[in-house]
Amino acid sequence: MRGTAVVVGGGLGGLTAAVALRRVGWRVTVLERAPEFGEVGAGIGVMPNALRALDALGLGDAVRREGTPRLPGGVLDHRGRALGHLDEDGLDRLGRLVAIHRADLHRVLRSALPADSLVTSADVVEVEPAVRYLVDGEPVELEADLVVAADGIASRVRSTLWPDAPEPVYAGTTAWRAVVDHDGPLEIGQTLGPGTEFGVLPLAAGRVYWYAATLSPAGLRADDELAEVKRLVDGWHDPIPALLAATDPESVLRHDVHELASPLPTYVRGRVALLGDSAHAMTPFLGQGACQAIEDGVVLAAACADGATVAEALARYDRERRPRTQAVARASRLMGRAGHGLRNPVAVAARNALLRAVPAKVAVSGMARFSAWRPPVLVARPPSPSAPPA
Ligand SMILES: Cc1cc2nc3c(=O)[nH]c(=O)nc-3n(C[C@H](O)[C@H](O)[C@H](O)COP(=O)(O)OP(=O)(O)OC[C@H]3O[C@@H](n4cnc5c(N)ncnc54)[C@H](O)[C@@H]3O)c2cc1C
Repeated sequence: MRGTAVVVGGGLGGLTAAVALRRVGWRVTVLERAPEFGEVGAGIGVMPNALRALDALGLGDAVRREGTPRLPGGVLDHRGRALGHLDEDGLDRLGRLVAIHRADLHRVLRSALPADSLVTSADVVEVEPAVRYLVDGEPVELEADLVVAADGIASRVRSTLWPDAPEPVYAGTTAWRAVVDHDGPLEIGQTLGPGTEFGVLPLAAGRVYWYAATLSPAGLRADDELAEVKRLVDGWHDPIPALLAATDPESVLRHDVHELASPLPTYVRGRVALLGDSAHAMTPFLGQGACQAIEDGVVLAAACADGATVAEALARYDRERRPRTQAVARASRLMGRAGHGLRNPVAVAARNALLRAVPAKVAVSGMARFSAWRPPVLVARPPSPSAPPA
């Protein structure tokens, strides 16, 4: 089946869905509220599962070129002692992630879409019965066979069409992120200290992405966020002090982590599909939020290509995506609890002893639980000649 689709939201999820639907012959318009397309100044690990999804779109190699292939690395305690290590052999079995700046990943996705399919400053206010959006306060209407609501964790489409769905909740953690220039080799690393964790992800072109996460009441802000991070990880092992010393205080992003803690009973309604954070906003502790949004886009397009009707396609999309994304969200929450969520010294020591005792092979198969996913095949088709231009 081919037809017309409107994608609400031009984040990583919305753009992936647009590229995937276009690939199977759909005419797609992306409506983005912001005046420009872009992503925050932070890095992201494109996990092997999401990389395979991007390969299915013909974009995997462009992402590999813009990013850095996964390096060996592991989990450490705050003094720098290894709790677990992933060597070359483990990496080969797991599949390599690509560490990339979000803006670069977003650009790769955008490059696969014609400029006239991307509309900015378009604030979507309604998707039923027609898609209605405001440009400079003036309403514009658009017909579509399919609406993809990729409008993020605070999705207006979800709160309108899923009025009974509980709102996202604070997950108890606040997180800081920054990208810095750094010379010299670095491993990928996650350091678990009491109540706080710190992660390092080397990107391309001598840049390094770091993040810190800590248990905190919601809504706290510091005048100097970088100083706050330095205080939290004071005395932690190298290269953490050097990375923080090299960080421009103005570049530090801070977000309280929210999630859709009550899983939705369905991701679809009529011709509307929720996708990405609007459907399953999860904590970032498995590094899978955007990766799941990327998977969503490819599965949605496969279902639309194969389905006889939009209803049939969306039923398949919901069937295939809901159990998996909700399982990933649960596991991510648990990962946070067992990571920086432990503050008590006895619990931290017990967790660390357990991590040290887990054989590398067992750790790799645990990690493969989600990253072994493979996308459906997308057969490229030209745009539907019968469909009106978007
Ligand atoms: C601290 C932190 C670290 C993270 N780290 C990782 C990681 O390492 N790996 C990973 O995979 N994920 C990570 N994530 C999760 C990831 O950022 C999200 O899952 C992902 O960005 C969701 O993409 P999306 O396209 O669904 O939503 P969004 O990126 O939120 O995009 C939604 C878009 O919709 C637009 N929009 C909203 N409303 C409207 C409207 N009414 N009309 C038009 N446009 C609208 C918005 O402007 C926005 O551009 C992290 C999240 C956080 C908070």
